Amino acid sequence: MGIIVQKFGGTSVGTVDRIQNVANRVIEEKNRGNDVVVVVSAMGKTTDQLVGMAKEITPSPDKREMDMLLTTGEQVTISLLAMALNSKGHPSVSFTGWQAGIKTEPVHGNARILDIDTGAIKSELDRGKIVIVAGFQGMTEDGSITTLGRGGSDTTAVALAAALKADKCDIYTDVTGVFTSDPRYIKNARKLYSVSYDEMLELANLGAGVLHPRAVEFAKNYGLPLEVRSSLEKEAGTLIEEEVKMEQNLVVRGVAFEDDITRVTILGLPNSLTGLSTIFSALAKNHINVDIIIQSMTEAQTTNLSFSIKNEDLTETVKVLEKHREQLNYDRIEWESGLAKVSIVGSGMISNPGVAAEMFEVLSANEIQVKMVSTSEIKVSAVIENSKMIDAVDALHNSFKLSVSAVKA
Ligand code: ASP
Ligand code: MG
Repeated sequence: MGIIVQKFGGTSVGTVDRIQNVANRVIEEKNRGNDVVVVVSAMGKTTDQLVGMAKEITPSPDKREMDMLLTTGEQVTISLLAMALNSKGHPSVSFTGWQAGIKTEPVHGNARILDIDTGAIKSELDRGKIVIVAGFQGMTEDGSITTLGRGGSDTTAVALAAALKADKCDIYTDVTGVFTSDPRYIKNARKLYSVSYDEMLELANLGAGVLHPRAVEFAKNYGLPLEVRSSLEKEAGTLIEEEVKMEQNLVVRGVAFEDDITRVTILGLPNSLTGLSTIFSALAKNHINVDIIIQSMTEAQTTNLSFSIKNEDLTETVKVLEKHREQLNYDRIEWESGLAKVSIVGSGMISNPGVAAEMFEVLSANEIQVKMVSTSEIKVSAVIENSKMIDAVDALHNSFKLSVSAVKA
C-alpha cells in the first residue's frame, strides 16, 4: 500500500456528471488499497469566465484581487467532489491550497511553491480519508492568497506527490496521453508510451499543452514517475520517467508548435559590457518571458539584437525598452508579430548528427522561410510565419516518421 496522487483537469470535472465519474475513478484507486490524494482544477472554463468578468470591470485588474477571484473556481470543485465521495460511502475531506499547507513566494498570478507542510493531509489520510486539494493555489508567509500561473494545478499535484513521497502521480485529462504532436491539428499523431522528463520538459515548454512545465521540472527533480492518462477511458496513458526505451528507434519523438510569437529587434545597440544584462533584467523584472535570443555583430561599435516574446507581451516590452532608451543608446526598435515556433524534440538527437539538416531541408522543400533558430541537446526550434505553422509541423511529423501509418506493429 502506498500513496497515489491523482489530478483531474477542468474538462474532467466540467459537469456534475463528470465529477461523479471522477469520484468513481478515485474510489477505484482507493479500493486498490492505496491512500489517495486528489487535486482538481476549476470546472470546465470557469477560470476563463472569471478572468472575463474581471476584465469587464477593468483591463488591468488588481493582481491580489485577481488571485482572490480565481481561487474560488477550484474551491467549487473540491467541495462537490468531497460531497460525491461522501455520498458514495467513501469518507473524504476537501482542503484549499493553504489548508493543505502549500506555501508560496509572494508573487500574485505566478507564484512558485516554497514549501508544503503535509501535516494536515497526513493526519486525514491516517484516519482513512480521501483528501481532496484545490489545485493552482497557495498562500504566502503573511497570509495572502496566491495562484501558481495558468495550468498550475498540475504543479500542485506533482509538488504534493513529492512532499508526500507518493509512489506515483497520475494526471487525468481529456486526452489519452502525450502524443507525437497535437492530434487536434495533426491527424496522424499517435500516443507515445513513454517520454523522458527532459523530452517532456521541452514538449511542455514548447506548447504541447498537456502538462504545466513546472510540474515536469518538479517531477524530474524528485524522480517522481508521472502518468498522463484519460479520465474517461481506461487505457494506459503515457509514462514520464527518467529512462525511456527508444520506440522504433525514433530519433525525434515529437513535433511541438506554438503561435502568437513576436520577434523584437534592437538595432544599433552600442557594444558594451552591460547592454545585454540591462535589457534582459529590465524585461525579467517586468515578468516578460524571453525565448530565443540572437545577437549579431554587424559593425565594430554596435550590434543588433533579436529576441522572441509572446505577442501579448509586445506593448509592455516596447515600453520597457523605451524607458531604458537613454541608458542603452540604441538606434531603433523593430518588431514582427504573427510568427510561430515549430520544434522537433528527441533524446536520440544527442548521438545522431544530421537532424537539424533534415529539418531545414524539409522546411525549405515546403518553401517555408526560417526567421530564427535555437537548439538544445535534444531540440531544434525554428521560428516561421504563423500561416505556415501547421504545414511545417505536418511535413516534419511525416519526415521524421512519427505518423501512425509510419509505425510498424
Ligand atoms: N484552473 C486553472 C486554469 O485554468 C488552473 C488549472 O486548471 O490548472 O489555469
Ligand atoms: Mg492543464
